[in-house]
Amino acid sequence: MTRDPRYDILFEPVRIGPVTARNRFFQVAHCNGLGWTQPQALAELRGIKAEGGWAVVTTEEVEIHPSGDCEPYHEGRLWSDADIPALALMAEAVHFHGSLAAIEIMHHGPSAANRGSREVPIGPSHRPVTMYDPVQARRMDKEDIRALRRWHRDAALRAKHAGFDIVYVYAGHELGIPMHFLNRRMNDRTDEYGGSLENRARLLRELIEDTKDAVGGTCGVAVRIAVEELLGDAGITSAGEGRDVIAMLAELPDLWDVNISSWANDSATSRFSGEGFQEDYTRFVKQVTTKPVVGVGRYTSPDRMVSLVKGGVLDFIGAARPSIADPFLPKKIEEGRLDDIRECIGCNMCVTSDFTMTNLRCTQNPTMGEEWRRGWHPERVAAKGKGNQVLVVGAGPAGLEAALTAARRGYDVHLAEAGTELGGRVVKESKLPGLAAWIRVRDWRVGQLQRLPNVTVYRDSRLNGEDVAGFGAEHVVIATGATWRRDGVGRDSGHALPGFDHPAVLTPDDIFAGRLPEGPVTVWDDDHFYLGGVIAERCAAAGLVTTYVTSALQPSAFAVNTLEATAIAKRLVKAGITIVTRVSATSFTGESLTVVEHLSGTARGIPARGLVTVTARLPNDDLFEKLRALKGKGEASHITSLHRIGDCNAPATIQAAVYAGHRWARELDETEPDVLYPRELPKAAPLRRFWG
Ligand code: ADP
Ligand code: SF4
Repeated sequence: MTRDPRYDILFEPVRIGPVTARNRFFQVAHCNGLGWTQPQALAELRGIKAEGGWAVVTTEEVEIHPSGDCEPYHEGRLWSDADIPALALMAEAVHFHGSLAAIEIMHHGPSAANRGSREVPIGPSHRPVTMYDPVQARRMDKEDIRALRRWHRDAALRAKHAGFDIVYVYAGHELGIPMHFLNRRMNDRTDEYGGSLENRARLLRELIEDTKDAVGGTCGVAVRIAVEELLGDAGITSAGEGRDVIAMLAELPDLWDVNISSWANDSATSRFSGEGFQEDYTRFVKQVTTKPVVGVGRYTSPDRMVSLVKGGVLDFIGAARPSIADPFLPKKIEEGRLDDIRECIGCNMCVTSDFTMTNLRCTQNPTMGEEWRRGWHPERVAAKGKGNQVLVVGAGPAGLEAALTAARRGYDVHLAEAGTELGGRVVKESKLPGLAAWIRVRDWRVGQLQRLPNVTVYRDSRLNGEDVAGFGAEHVVIATGATWRRDGVGRDSGHALPGFDHPAVLTPDDIFAGRLPEGPVTVWDDDHFYLGGVIAERCAAAGLVTTYVTSALQPSAFAVNTLEATAIAKRLVKAGITIVTRVSATSFTGESLTVVEHLSGTARGIPARGLVTVTARLPNDDLFEKLRALKGKGEASHITSLHRIGDCNAPATIQAAVYAGHRWARELDETEPDVLYPRELPKAAPLRRFWG
């Protein structure tokens, strides 16, 4: 296939100061949970982006000094020359595939508590650090500012030595120190670094000038800056100082990388913002500078990308999440394979890796973060091993991914689904408020399966043990999902709750089936992720008086890790839903839900003629157990491998189900899958024996 000439403009080279990007696809900085702790894994991950056609591939935030240390989060680190070799690996991997390597050096200033280094945090003014710890940042004096400029300059030189082509000055989000100086909320100085915008922008200007002076002859110098904070007059706005600062420094850097702040706004999920959600704020930038501009907005549509470039909104299509969901997005456009693009669903499971300090993971792309340690390539799989016939039972995310990957390996794949529709839980969940984009998990996989000749799909086919045994497949995998509990057992309650067998109690499965409770309704969320909140929204949208009740400290508590917790709580309030937190449900009468408050120990009733209980799930593993008993005997004697995956194994996220399906298909012919995967081990230097 060849590229549609309409997209030619996306493949034009663009100059960034002394370097040239081969096309307009720009992987902007993104966290990955690996950072300085796993340099080889990170280099492979970034190299694959370059292989997939991203002309510029950027690091995550890279700390430049122990006084800006964001431990325990795993970001990049360039504190000294000793850090150069680890980062050089990434530059090498990116160059190998013909792309430019960019590095986002930065100092966290008052955003970092310096938990690891135990240095005193610094910032423009005496202020509590903005995240994590009950400590304050000290107001920087002139000597501190001179030192900061020196560290930044040294880091830029180290970045150049490590092989990077583009060096950033970072004032993005609410994190980089020049942003703290710029922001009136955080800067109450009365010297030449405070007061007027020109003064507050002085540090940013100096860092750009220093960086250009240090490496500008060979490296492009980019600035990442948030031009809007969505705080109205209390913050930077794109119609006010966000615009003014870019106009003031317009021609100084070689590239402007513009976004909105905070990170939660910048990485808004599809539940809250659609593709291109930042355009209204960043559109002005190209009007005030002649330098190339990169911006983000979860772009996956090539037509939209073309219109952005032609419309003079952006020069580069910036992407973090779309490049995670499909590292080969540019290449697929280039080769005219638009249907192969695996679009990001905007769920932010990738963001959870940063918050949980574990290697990057993605709902749509199960290979992300596993390139090095498992040797998984997003576009290539090993040819099949022993056996020919594979039977996958259940076409949810786990079954679809298992079938697709096994088919790509060359197996004859049979996929049986009880229902008439493929997709399992994503079909049901994507019909709930705000989750429509999640159907992409199903659509991409079904689209791919349809084009493979070695796949047969059986809809409306609920298989039992005898059906599977008699089918004749050597490899059988059961992906039959899970069922929501109706008895009250969940995170908070370890036992069944009295009255939860009342006919007015519904589970998410009932809601998926189109049933709605009577009002007033209480949604009991003992699951703590998105579903309880989404179902409360659904009930309120149907006009029911709705109370959302949870055992957690806040609604959809785990969603702090997807950057959504605040937005979810606001949305519930806006929908008129009453929120009750920190309680245990103890019983239901059909008229009210009794809860005990965690802090006071007081019991009280919440009026509820309907109750939706979002607690825990039980695996649908009867079929697996039946087959386990039959395996190796009689009709089932041809079954050489039998596994269960996804929610049928242990209920979890859609991301985990896709990963499980992928892993099963990669490993199905291995006798003993390797659980002791390669690890990057710390170097063991000889003991120094300080103690005598
Ligand atoms: P997962 O997230 O693990 O993929 P899902 O619940 O999304 O799980 O999907 C499970 C799928 O399995 C559903 O579409 C369901 O209809 C199907 N299924 C369940 N039992 C059977 C069965 N015995 N035979 C065929 N399909 C089944
Ligand atoms: Fe997109 Fe979700 Fe993957 Fe993140 S985890 S890249 S939001 S699909």
